[in-house]
Amino acid sequence: YAKKKNDNNYQFFNEALLETFTTKAEIERDLQHAIRGREFELYYQPLMDLQHHQYIGAEALIRWNHPKKGVLYPGTFIEIAEQTGMINQIGEWVLEAACKQLNLWQHKNVNITMHVNVSARQFFSGNLYELVWLLITRYRIKPNTLILEITETELMGDIRYAINLCHELAELGVGLAIDDFGTGYSSMKYLKQFPISKLKIDRSFIMDISSSRESREIVSAIIAMAKALNISLTAEGVETTEQEAFLTLSGCHQAQGFLYSPAIRVNDFGLFINNHQSATTVNMQPESFIA
Ligand code: C2E
Ligand code: MG
Ligand code: MG
Ligand code: MG
Repeated sequence: YAKKKNDNNYQFFNEALLETFTTKAEIERDLQHAIRGREFELYYQPLMDLQHHQYIGAEALIRWNHPKKGVLYPGTFIEIAEQTGMINQIGEWVLEAACKQLNLWQHKNVNITMHVNVSARQFFSGNLYELVWLLITRYRIKPNTLILEITETELMGDIRYAINLCHELAELGVGLAIDDFGTGYSSMKYLKQFPISKLKIDRSFIMDISSSRESREIVSAIIAMAKALNISLTAEGVETTEQEAFLTLSGCHQAQGFLYSPAIRVNDFGLFINNHQSATTVNMQPESFIA
């Protein structure tokens, strides 16, 4: 699909996009409409604490309720949103919606951390610090319950700027997680300069745990490294009890994946947590769950 390199209509297209839209212009037009028309929704995927067998977090994952095409996944539109700059508005909406929801959970004494994906463009937009400050103030968020997820590759775009911004955010008290860890090209030399509170091991390594000794070695090495650096660790894409057993025995802190639940709507998330947590740790009514 990258054949016509100079043609804007084709260069950003991947298969997922082509299945849903015919032109980039169509996505752009629909995205503008979506931003104005409140067509976005956050779904939440639970994060499991492997040592205590409790759900301790949620990752907010954006969905687009397209009026004609149904529910669209970020794979179909985030890239275009990033290319056109619309990601800044979408990203602001995501952060605010997540903070509103987190405020509601904290109000209900639900002790769950909120993970929010931040795109490269938003990260380098120049106002992320102010935005996060504003939102945690407005919604009275305990800063350490908000965790921003950024990929290695994003951080490596402009290292000096990224290091500064991460330190500012860390001073606010919010957590910083490296998403898709292991797939980027950052060296340890750079990584240790970032005040990172968490690594998320990419799904590709977890997927191969049962079949590949090499993947098991890599995962073990990441676990050992996180332990040495005193950084918390989440395994992404856990789908089988076999993978879970390996991770638990290896001392991985947290897991996230279809084994527990896919990302679900906020009401379903409330029910899910209620059903899985003892009534003493969490007690909430589903209807009081919507921001
Ligand atoms: P991510 O941050 O690495 O999120 C994890 C992705 O893996 C999600 O896909 C999730 O649904 C999927 N996943 C979770 N568990 C499993 C599993 O066990 N098996 C498999 N096969 N997949 C699993 P999703 O929701 O389609 O999101 C894809 C990517 O889009 C995310 O990757 C993230 O980079 C980006 N994204 C999602 N929401 C946002 C957002 O609000 N803002 C920005 N900037 N990016 C977002
Ligand atoms: Mg993520
Ligand atoms: Mg991500
Ligand atoms: Mg990831």
